[in-house]
Amino acid sequence: MKIICIGRNYGEHAKELGNEQPDEPVVFLKPTSALIPLGGPIVLPGFSNDVHHEIELVYSVRRHNGRAQADKVTIGLDLTARDVQQALKAKGLPWEKAKAYDGSAYVGEAFTALDSFPPGHHIDFMLKKNGHVVQSGHNGQMIFDVATLIAHVERYMQLETGDLIFTGTPAGVGPLQAGDRLEGFLLGDLVFDLEVKGAATPR
Ligand code: ZN
Repeated sequence: MKIICIGRNYGEHAKELGNEQPDEPVVFLKPTSALIPLGGPIVLPGFSNDVHHEIELVYSVRRHNGRAQADKVTIGLDLTARDVQQALKAKGLPWEKAKAYDGSAYVGEAFTALDSFPPGHHIDFMLKKNGHVVQSGHNGQMIFDVATLIAHVERYMQLETGDLIFTGTPAGVGPLQAGDRLEGFLLGDLVFDLEVKGAATPR
């Protein structure tokens, strides 16, 4: 199973980090070892002092008759060691240490079938930190929609049934601290409720 992630797919978020709007999708990967077990907790890594939450729509892929399509959606967290990422970006290096570490991804348990939505329906999602809304958005705000993302990714790597695509985060990313609580909502329903814990041991 591959976990494909898309960067800078919401204009307001690209702006808040001082990035330009991309003219084609920004693609990176997370390994399956990045996944946090269902129910959490989020454990902050010892090598960063600035881990940010990024809530994202996560689509699962189905490959049928030689064609990959998104078939279900949930929400997830693309946790990002922003200090590490900024240092890597400044040197023009890949982002994996900041984005693909153990415990850098959470995927909600409850997927919703896309064919249960009327065409053009907005898929709303939201993240609360300690009871306050910090991020919210819907799929209509993406610079590249999921079909465009799949077609683009498949120019480089074939997608298989069960692959996941994190489709980018809306504005409002921010740092996590031990003791924080993150609640994720899809279409108004609570999908996850996670506790944030401090680093086990500094690396
Ligand atoms: Zn992201």
